[in-house]
This record gives sequence, C-alpha cells and structure tokens, in this order.
Amino acid sequence: MESRIVKSYNIGSLSSGNSHQEPVLYWMSREHRVHYNFGLLYAQKLARKNKQPLVICFTLFTDYLEANCHHFQFMLEGLEEVQKECENLKIPFYIIKYRKEEDFLQFLNHYKISQIVTDFDALIEKRSLQKTISSSYNKPFWVIDSRNIVPVHIASSKQEYAAYTLRPKLHKKLDNFLVSPLEADTQSISFQGDCPSINWSRLLNGLRLKKNPEYRGNPSAGNKVAKGVLEEFISHSLSSYSEHSNNPNKKVLSGLSPYLHFGHISSLEVLIKLEKVPKGGSNTEDFVEQIFVRRELSDNYCYYNKNYKNFDGFPNWAKETLNAHRKDSREYLYSFEDLEEGKTHDPLWNAAQFELLKKGSIHSYMRMYWCKKILEWTPSPEIAMEYSVKLNDSYSLDGRDSNGYTGIAWSIGGVHDRAWKERSIYGKVRYMNDRGAKRKFDVQKYIDSMKGEDIIEQRKMEF
Ligand SMILES: Cc1cc2nc3c(=O)[nH]c(=O)nc-3n(C[C@H](O)[C@H](O)[C@H](O)COP(=O)(O)OP(=O)(O)OC[C@H]3O[C@@H](n4cnc5c(N)ncnc54)[C@H](O)[C@@H]3O)c2cc1C
Repeated sequence: MESRIVKSYNIGSLSSGNSHQEPVLYWMSREHRVHYNFGLLYAQKLARKNKQPLVICFTLFTDYLEANCHHFQFMLEGLEEVQKECENLKIPFYIIKYRKEEDFLQFLNHYKISQIVTDFDALIEKRSLQKTISSSYNKPFWVIDSRNIVPVHIASSKQEYAAYTLRPKLHKKLDNFLVSPLEADTQSISFQGDCPSINWSRLLNGLRLKKNPEYRGNPSAGNKVAKGVLEEFISHSLSSYSEHSNNPNKKVLSGLSPYLHFGHISSLEVLIKLEKVPKGGSNTEDFVEQIFVRRELSDNYCYYNKNYKNFDGFPNWAKETLNAHRKDSREYLYSFEDLEEGKTHDPLWNAAQFELLKKGSIHSYMRMYWCKKILEWTPSPEIAMEYSVKLNDSYSLDGRDSNGYTGIAWSIGGVHDRAWKERSIYGKVRYMNDRGAKRKFDVQKYIDSMKGEDIIEQRKMEF
C-alpha cells in the first residue's frame, strides 16, 4: 500500500486523544468507486489506527474543463452508486459544491478533519488544487495512486521516450502489483456529525451546464455497469480484438474508456479478470498493451511533462520539423466552428466528428485520423492542439484524461512516436490519409453509419 503513496505532505502534527471526533477524510477525486480503491483503503487504515471515523467527500466543480451536461450526468450516476455502497458500509459520503477554496476549507474545519487522503492525478488542474488545499489546511495530506497498476513514480522516475522504453519497466514490476486488494470494511466507529441525504436529480438540474443537442449516447454509469461492459467484451469481442481493432465498423473494442476515465472500474480489476480468462493469445496481449502500457504511458507523459497540452511538450525532433514546415501552404483551412459542425470537404473526417457529437466518442482508429487532419487543416500546430483538445474535452465522454492529451500530442507532435518520411505541413510527423483507412475497412459503410435520419442541424452547444 505505502508504495502507492505518490506524495505525503506531513505538514501538521497528528492530534492525540479522542475526546472529540477528528475524522480521517478520503477526498474522492479521480477514482469514483468503492472497490479496488487504494486511497479509500489507506484512509480507512489511518482511521482505524487513530480510532477515528472515516468520512468520504467529493468536491463538485460546477464548471470543469469544457465538461458538459452529459459528462456530469454520467459522473453523478456513478457517484450515486458509490454513495449507496458507502451507506451500506456506514461511511458518511458528502458532496461539496466547490466554487472557491473556502467552500472546502469550511467543511474540513467544521468536521475537524485530522488527515486527508486523496487520489493521485497526473493532470495539472488537480495537482494544483491538491497543493492549494494541502498548504491551506495544515494537516497530513496523502496522495495515493489507484489509477495505474504500477504507480507512476514506481514505474519510472522520468518522462519515458516511448512505449518501448516504459513497457519492460512496467512488465518487470507487474507481478508485485497484480494482486486484488481487500474490500473496504463496514465502519465500526459511528460518526457523530450529520450527513444530509443527496437529491441527485436536483443536484444535476441545479447545475447550469452546456448541453450537446446532437448527443444520443446516455450510457448507464457506475461500477456494476462497468463490470457488465467488461464481461460483455470478454465474452463477445476479445477473441477478435487483434484482427478488428482498427475497423470502426466492427464492435470489438471494449468501450471501457468512460468507465476508466471516471474511475468506475480499475484497470487492475480488468487485468485480474483477464488473468482468469483462458489465455486469448495475441488478443489478450494486444488488449493488455492498450489498457496497461499505453494507458500508463499517458499518465507518465502528463505527470512528467507539464506542457502536455501544448507544442512545448513535443520532442525536439518534432518541434524542429513542425517549425520547418510552419509556412507550408495549406490546401484547406477550417475554423473551429467548421470543424465542430463537421463541415469539411472530407466525408470520412466529418463522419468521425458526427460520431463524436452523437455518441460522445470516436473509434480508436478514426481518432488518430481525426486529429492528424486537424493539424493539416489549421494554420499552425499550436492551433491544431488547441482545437483538438477543446473538441475532445467538450464532446468526448472520456475526455479531460491523460490518454486524450497524450493521444493528441502523439497525433500532432510525434510524442512517443518516431520520425517518418518528410512531407508538407507534417514534416517528419507521421501522416495518415483516407487511402490507409480504405485498406483497413469499408470507409463508405462507416460514413453511412454516421448519417441516419437525425441529421445534424444545430450542432453547437446550447446553454
Ligand atoms: C487524438 C486522440 C484522442 C484520444 N482521446 C482519448 C480520451 O480523451 N480519453 C481516453 O481514454 N483515450 C483517448 N484516446 C486513446 C484511445 O483512442 C481510447 O482510449 C480508446 O479509443 C477508448 O476506447 P475503448 O475503451 O473501447 O478502447 P480499447 O481498445 O478497448 O482499450 C481499452 C482501454 O485501453 C486504454 N487505451 C486504449 N488505447 C489507448 C491509447 N492509445 N492510449 C492510452 N490508452 C489507451 C484506454 O483506457 C481504453 O479504455 C485518444 C487517442 C487519440 C489518438
């Protein structure tokens, strides 16, 4: 467990004596689940050791990195399940609307929170929030990595160059971490504070959130649903994952990314489940490469490179080649709105954008094509980064994730890739075109599947 502690800020001193309650707080942030949650388990261990109750809270931001109503709906549905499970475990669960630091500090002071345990997050916004709270609230503050199977700081102490440099380090350490944790215990010390019940639909309706009128997604959320999605994938799709994972007309991908993103399921649980599955040969290996190596490589990139959302984060060879091709003429140039509304000359690209608007996701293969074309059709790599991040974070259910920032940086800035044959605009950054797509799948079928009767008329977000 201790090895999962990425940082511990022992700023304050532990209070002694139990004349009144000074609970330990698990500040749930990235991992919205009760199972396979090392932060929760660590907080419970501290609480037990100090003979104090454990409480859990989630700070709800009413405006977060382009997230829209559908993201919040999915997230709150998952949290509602968490709250019910906490109720069964007799652990109080709070939602605190976070508009400013004081909202949270008030809660911490009111309940005399003695220690805070929270989830590790590689992204700048969460890290700076943790720093703010840990320096304003003068008590021990622990950060636990439950997102990665091999915690980021143990996997590597530096930014890795590519998958091939991180892969052996991860696999070497995997055996030490491929272990199911215990389940959280029912709390035996009763909490003396009041814990108001949460009206979830009122909570959602009370937030003034952007809506995407094209969205037809609305998948159910939570740990139970995520486990069902995993079962379905293992029974029906895993056996053809390697053969068809680049074909958006075949439904062989797991569809787990929104559940992983919101922490409804842990990738460790997925891997343990796969260990019990009859070896799927290259299918299982290829899937493990994605959910373990590529996913943990993304956190490695975002944790060790603060420029993960911009040009400065690219490797030197890519910066040089993109700079050398800055002034190359562009046959097509599109505004953010053109792209957002899927109004380019390329039906294949438009289909991917429609998929994003309607389903809140783009198939893995098309995601690469989608992003590479944004580099080709905008005035600079900086603008391409800005537009891609904004579109992905606004519309993708799994957006605002280190996988997204890294996937975009891979597509536009050659991150974790190598130099390829030089060409216009891209320089030596890998190029993709529709001929490549045509070799892999029936492009027209994919385009047609994204049309349908509900033709997109008004695609911009409604407020
Ligand atoms: C431009 C671009 C943007 C992307 N944006 C996101 C994003 O916002 N959120 C997101 O989770 N992924 C993103 N990815 C990575 C990948 O496309 C998605 O993880 C995948 O499409 C999710 O679908 P799935 O769960 O069905 O995938 P599966 O193939 O079933 O994979 C299972 C899991 O492995 C992980 N994984 C798969 N591919 C990758 C990858 N290339 N890098 C890192 N982890 C991976 C994901 O956690 C995924 O859920 C992006 C990739 C690109 C090129």
